[in-house]
Amino acid sequence: MGETSMRVTVWGENIHDRTDERVRAIYPQGMHETIAGALREALGPGATVRTATLDQPDHGLTDAVLESTDVLTWWGHAGHHLVSDEVVANVQRRVLSGMGLLVLHSGHLSRPFVRLMGTSCSLRWREADDREVVWTVNPGHPIAAGIPQAFVIPQQEMYGEYFDIPQPDELVLISSFSGGEVFRSGCCFMRGSGRIFYFSPGHEHFPVYDHPIVQRIIANGVRWAAASARTHYVTTQCFESPTGWFEHLGAER
Ligand code: ZN
Repeated sequence: MGETSMRVTVWGENIHDRTDERVRAIYPQGMHETIAGALREALGPGATVRTATLDQPDHGLTDAVLESTDVLTWWGHAGHHLVSDEVVANVQRRVLSGMGLLVLHSGHLSRPFVRLMGTSCSLRWREADDREVVWTVNPGHPIAAGIPQAFVIPQQEMYGEYFDIPQPDELVLISSFSGGEVFRSGCCFMRGSGRIFYFSPGHEHFPVYDHPIVQRIIANGVRWAAASARTHYVTTQCFESPTGWFEHLGAER
């Protein structure tokens, strides 16, 4: 990112985290603070990491915050419908302009993700303490750096196929579950100038975000998604193009 540091905003819906005793016991400060803390440790002084939550004005995602965010991470579940049209539109516009977006777990049904995918993003699920094995199927990908070929998350909600997403531009991880299902658990998409990474592990009733390999994948995802964030191209509007306009580029010098 050159001499300026990577600017990360960790967004948490922060509903279960406050209202569900099981979740409070695992994540006393909320999942967003656990994720932000892990990112600060992994990314070090090269990154500034802040948090934002649903209950703040503009859900903590004002124009000023979004304009100064290189990568936004998103965890939501119970309050997808409470996210305002304006914030959804602004997140989409920023992604198309180059902001990276990490969508975590139940964020598969978040309004920004569904809008950016254009499909239902529905899936098969079961909350029954399944064991999840996460398999790296693209070991040369930057998000797989330092990640073993397979690792176990002892307890997880099962997310299984069919997952109604567009074909991922890059598939990095798939998961299998003790109940037999499989799932595309680490998927990369390009939208406009922006990079999107969907990563499914992270059910609120299990300490998944304390898992060191899960933390590493999220940090790798942030680094990968940040690569497009400082684009200088305006890609989101049409320009009239007079004949020969480019022949004068740089002529002022
Ligand atoms: Zn869940």
